Amino acid sequence: MARANPYRPFTPDPEQTARAPDVSGNAINGLGETAHRRPRMVYWAPDPDDIPHGELQRYFYTQSARVAAFADKRAARQAVLDAPLPPVADRRVTRPPDEWTAALDDFIANGACEKTGVARMQPDWVYDGHHIPQSRVIMIGVAHDYDAIATAPDPRAGLEVMQQYTRAAAAAKTIAGWLRQQGWEAEPVTGPMTGALAMIPPALACGFGELGKHGSLINPDMGASFRLSAVLTDAPFAPTPPQSHGIDAFCQNCRICEDACPPEALSPDKQTVRGTTKWYVDFDKCLPFFNQTHGCAICIAQCPWSRPGVGLNLAAKLARKRQRDAD
Ligand code: SF4
Ligand code: SF4
Repeated sequence: MARANPYRPFTPDPEQTARAPDVSGNAINGLGETAHRRPRMVYWAPDPDDIPHGELQRYFYTQSARVAAFADKRAARQAVLDAPLPPVADRRVTRPPDEWTAALDDFIANGACEKTGVARMQPDWVYDGHHIPQSRVIMIGVAHDYDAIATAPDPRAGLEVMQQYTRAAAAAKTIAGWLRQQGWEAEPVTGPMTGALAMIPPALACGFGELGKHGSLINPDMGASFRLSAVLTDAPFAPTPPQSHGIDAFCQNCRICEDACPPEALSPDKQTVRGTTKWYVDFDKCLPFFNQTHGCAICIAQCPWSRPGVGLNLAAKLARKRQRDAD
């Protein structure tokens, strides 16, 4: 039986509803389209005027302006974004591909981030109308403080999201700076305005886990409670493999996020999106609640994989079951 949801029924603020464009965000995302195509930017445009939902993106800013601490967090993030990168050194350091990739472990060891991976860049990961010339994308993951994210949809969760976006940006700039000092061009990509790059596909490709029913990545180490940034480069990093822990199948039998989502944006079944069948968040249902709660985050907080220590145990249990089934 579904758990009682304290945020239902949810009625969007009429001021927000009045800003909605004529086009559905689900249509922009390609929901129901059976032919493959590249993604189109639906939200978090660097310039809100560039997207149909730009006025709703501006509405998000008006909501967070009501909590003074958001301005401080935004200023801290801007300072990180504005910090100059070092020049590209004249002399180019060379290493075998595996050594380049192994060197990323140092950034985890020194606390800059919790996870890294590398994928060979694919045109399908670039928003329609954009181009990324680099051959490699380094993905970076930073974990939320679980106690803070567990307060969602309280503003404390939104503030934690901003804090980790800032940390993810700092990690991307540090890794890009490190590469530039070794003679390799490198471009940091920071969230949530990622510019040309859709970040979830390369994160899936390089071992950051599986897509959960709530539309966010899940891995055993951080659950769904983390943020991403990236670095684009031609330095010849060895790609890291995708990882599967049975999370996709687990989601078939779990409905915690479905029940927890106030506007009922999560479906029990996968959907066809631009020719692929996958878990999908109804953008038009999610966005009003997301905007009115400084980024919501209920679904990632409630996901059992996100609870500290649970993800690794769940992954081990699922691996044992797979082994038993195979025997
Ligand atoms: S972020 Fe969106 S999908 Fe997740 S619980 Fe909130 S409203 Fe639902
Ligand atoms: S709450 Fe359950 S169904 Fe939703 S993403 Fe997490 S594991 Fe999957």
